[in-house]
Order: sequence, then structure tokens, then C-alpha cells
Amino acid sequence: MKWVKRIGIAIIIILILLAIGLGILMRKAKYGFATYETDAHEITLDTDRPAILIFSKTTGWRHSEAIDAAVPAIEQVCKEKGWFVYNTEDAGIFNNAQLEKFDVVIWNNSTGRVLTDEQRLTFQSYVENGGGYLGIHGAGDFSHHWDWYKDELISAQFSHHPIKNQIQKADVYLSATADSSWRTPPVWTHEDEWYIFDESPTQKGAEILYFIDGSKIDPDGNMLWITDKDFGMGDQHPIAWTKGVGLGRSFYTSMGHTGATFENKNMISMLTEAISWTGRL
Ligand SMILES: [Zn+2]
Repeated sequence: MKWVKRIGIAIIIILILLAIGLGILMRKAKYGFATYETDAHEITLDTDRPAILIFSKTTGWRHSEAIDAAVPAIEQVCKEKGWFVYNTEDAGIFNNAQLEKFDVVIWNNSTGRVLTDEQRLTFQSYVENGGGYLGIHGAGDFSHHWDWYKDELISAQFSHHPIKNQIQKADVYLSATADSSWRTPPVWTHEDEWYIFDESPTQKGAEILYFIDGSKIDPDGNMLWITDKDFGMGDQHPIAWTKGVGLGRSFYTSMGHTGATFENKNMISMLTEAISWTGRL
């Protein structure tokens, strides 16, 4: 019966390795493995054109495909609009001298603890004094552990996303109260990983710009020991919203999990208007 014992030991070792791997993955998704850049990242803008900063740093879950697709898509938008654009994953750019050169900072699926406390205060002050913030998908998940960012900028606590049917197709509705600068059709179709938040961001003063009918998606995010994640956000499930933050403006969209998102012309149109709106361009 030696072989039975050996197989038993092998199975136990595999299970232990799997548990360790899963533990590391969960920890990375929830907290990230923080790395910081404290040296100032200086750039020279030889232009007085509007300037857009794309920040794609992750220390939590990395949406590689989406990040890589969003950068050239946003660069193309900026090129067409005549805006200067700069993409970096170096948080050393979050200092007053550099941020003040930019009209909008786009958090391109940036997740986890990406800024030092000082860089956080610098960014908060940048927004409160008139800067623009545009957050895409993972930028609004639970991994940042930063109250001002969650409460004031995103204005909602991320709960979960569907697990069983992770990517689902839905009709995207433009809010009837949106002004005419949002040139997307009133209804368009999009396939994404639909984020679910504990409460509507309207509770914290945000205005819903786009929503889906949450009763038509499967919101079940239950997995293993997580069993209370099977609720949605109702028939006006917010997926993009705007908010004034001090003198600045915040726009967040929970869309953007997949690379294909950035091939959807309505998504590009929405992002273009979002850059204009947040940067007052
Ligand atoms: Zn995602």
C-alpha cells in the first residue's frame, strides 16, 4: 500500500500549494503588493496645448489587455483633438510641479496602493483645486484603501463583479438628464464585467450619466467562502457618473475590463467627452 500513501502525500502537497497560490492571488487582488516611486518624475511640455496624463500603474489586479488597448486608443483621441498626452506607470509624477501641467489625469485601470501618502495629498489637492480625474474600471475597485479616493472621488464602495457569468452583454442607456455634449446614442450595446457597488454614487452627490438595466444581468459574485455577493443595483444600475470635487471634476466609468472595450466607438466617444468635461476643454 506504499503507492496509496505516496499518492496521498502528493495530493496533500498539491492542495497546500494551490491554497498558498490562491491566498497570494486574493491578497494581490485586495491589497496589492505596494511599490512606490519617490523620485520626482519630471517631464517637459514644450506646448501650451491641453495636456492629458494617463496613469497605468497597478500593484493590485492588472488588466493587462485593457490597459494595453486603452493607451493607444486614448492617444489617438488626443491626437485628433490636438491635446498633448503622456502615459506613465511612474507615480513619481504625482508632485505639484508636474501635475499642474496637466488638465486631466486618467487612472487607466490603475489598482492597488500606487501612491505614497504625500503623493495622495498632492493628487487630492490637484483635484480640489480644479484638476480633472477620469477613472476607468479597476480604478474604482476595492484595492486602493484610500478614503478620500473612495468617498469623494469615486463616491461608492465596490462590492463585487459577477463570477459565474463574468462577462455579460447589456444595453447601455444614456441618462435622460445628460446634456447634449454626450454624443453617444441613447442606447448602445456593450459587453463587459459589470461592477456592483454597495450603494449608488448619487448618495454622495454624483450624477449618473450611463446605466444598464441591472435586473437583466446575473450579478452573482459568490465564490468559495464568499457567499453574500449575489445582489445587483436595480434597473438603473450606474456604470458611469460625474461629480464636482472641490473646484475639480471627477468622471468614473466601471466599464473597461476587456481590450475590446476600447474598440467600441461609443466607448471612445464617451471617453472623449469625459476628458473634455473633466478638463473643461
Ligand atoms: Zn475587471
